[in-house]
Amino acid sequence: MTVSASTSQQRVVIVGGGLAGLAAAAALTDAGMRVTIYEARRRCGGRAASFDDPVGGGLVDACQHVAMGCCTNFIDLCRRTGLADALRRDRTLFFIGPDGDRAACTPTRLLPAPLHLAPLVFGMKHFSWREKLALATGMLRLARSHTGKQQVEPTALAWLESIGQPESVIRLFWQPVIESALGESIDLVSLSATRKVAVDGFLAHGEAADLWVPTAPLGTLFGEGLTAWLESRGTTIVTGAAVSSLARDADGRVRAVVTGGVEHPCEAVIVAVPWRQAGRLVPDLVPAADERFAGSPITAVHLWFDRDVVDLPHAVLVGRVSQWVFRGEVTGDRSHCQVVISASRGLFAGDRDGLRDAVVDELRQVFPRARAARLVEARVVTDPTAVLSVRPGVEDVRPPARTRSANLFLAGDWTATGWPSTMEGAVRSGRLAAVAAAESLGVPCAGLAPDLHKNPLVRLLCRPVAPQRATRASSVTE
Ligand SMILES: Cc1cc2nc3c(=O)[nH]c(=O)nc-3n(C[C@H](O)[C@H](O)[C@H](O)COP(=O)(O)OP(=O)(O)OC[C@H]3O[C@@H](n4cnc5c(N)ncnc54)[C@H](O)[C@@H]3O)c2cc1C
Repeated sequence: MTVSASTSQQRVVIVGGGLAGLAAAAALTDAGMRVTIYEARRRCGGRAASFDDPVGGGLVDACQHVAMGCCTNFIDLCRRTGLADALRRDRTLFFIGPDGDRAACTPTRLLPAPLHLAPLVFGMKHFSWREKLALATGMLRLARSHTGKQQVEPTALAWLESIGQPESVIRLFWQPVIESALGESIDLVSLSATRKVAVDGFLAHGEAADLWVPTAPLGTLFGEGLTAWLESRGTTIVTGAAVSSLARDADGRVRAVVTGGVEHPCEAVIVAVPWRQAGRLVPDLVPAADERFAGSPITAVHLWFDRDVVDLPHAVLVGRVSQWVFRGEVTGDRSHCQVVISASRGLFAGDRDGLRDAVVDELRQVFPRARAARLVEARVVTDPTAVLSVRPGVEDVRPPARTRSANLFLAGDWTATGWPSTMEGAVRSGRLAAVAAAESLGVPCAGLAPDLHKNPLVRLLCRPVAPQRATRASSVTE
């Protein structure tokens, strides 16, 4: 085993250059620390990645990523590193109902949160007034829901059915919203994860539900822009360098990370790779994949037409196979658009052509310009473990940044951040691990950005109410 001399001065090594690793590096660099990132692929960015556009040249995102206004750490990272200008902010959410009815739903700035959502909820043309009221009531009941420590947590679907949400409201609102926000199907996600979407993503603040949509390819934003920013501040980034193992002492402390048979000494390590890879590097610190710790797939269907077909920046297609459509680049006689389907497990039994045809048919139903358009090229991209499945029980096994080893820390969207597996979750995890690693070396390091401010009305209406215990309830009845 060779020991690399050039890196003997370095203090913190980060394994993995996804958003978690990059966010950790940014925080540590800001704290004045020497950082080296080892990234296995040619480019940093991890799952927030792009591929070469087969039609127009340039880059296309493997799957469209969006953040919400509540993603304060992701937005803060983009602002600090000069990337925020490449994020578009959509305040209006466009819904296309089962009959093709369009609704442009914009939260109002005239009412305090959570009443700002009234135009969004009541603007959904595909619902009757009774359904709209049921939805508003369901949203508030969800905000006040409390699973209680002793109970087996219900899934979102079981809970929504138990409070009598109409089937149409579940299918045409809760299902698309929850599945796209959490990346997992409504009959598997936990009630607490669902409550987080409702409160943090919608009710908490007038800007919580704003969509932040990258206008540049993710590969350009994170693989180039963010890495250039880090390198300009002294971070060393080594790509194409998979870490094969960590050299650890008997007490678990890490002496070095190993790439290509070479040991790189370090004083602290942040392992910021997905949980399966982390399980290989530090099996003693990562829970084994079981029914509580599993991945959930997301599929992107990329379509290139011979003309511009999608006349909205984005749209939620409810009651269809396609869940979201995003308008892509339009160049000359070519246009690109992307349909995203979360929780795509078993979709069309893996028949990509069948899925492509179904999606194209749906686009032709809702976008008149698509009817006469010729499909030039199509790609179906599925990541089978796109995100951690936030099922009941998962929070009990997600590990925190600090581990039993004094100088070894974990980051990644799968670690215990309290957030679902998202860019925000990844950035939070990186920042939490950076604080812990810096602290282990006696260096102060700034932590998380504050959440959006919750006004008193939000705090009152969204305060969880513990379910009454059966004995107390029965004694009251008596
Ligand atoms: C299809 C899809 C759609 C998504 N949509 C959204 C969305 O709309 N909004 C949203 O917020 N989030 C979305 N996400 C989730 C988001 O992409 C992730 O939560 C986030 O990018 C995870 O970042 P990470 O750093 O934790 O992990 P990763 O991005 O997986 O990064 C880990 C890095 O570690 C590297 N690595 C692995 N092993 C080693 C090793 N041994 N040595 C060195 N390097 C190693 C990998 O190459 C990778 O670059 C989506 C994800 C997918 C897949």
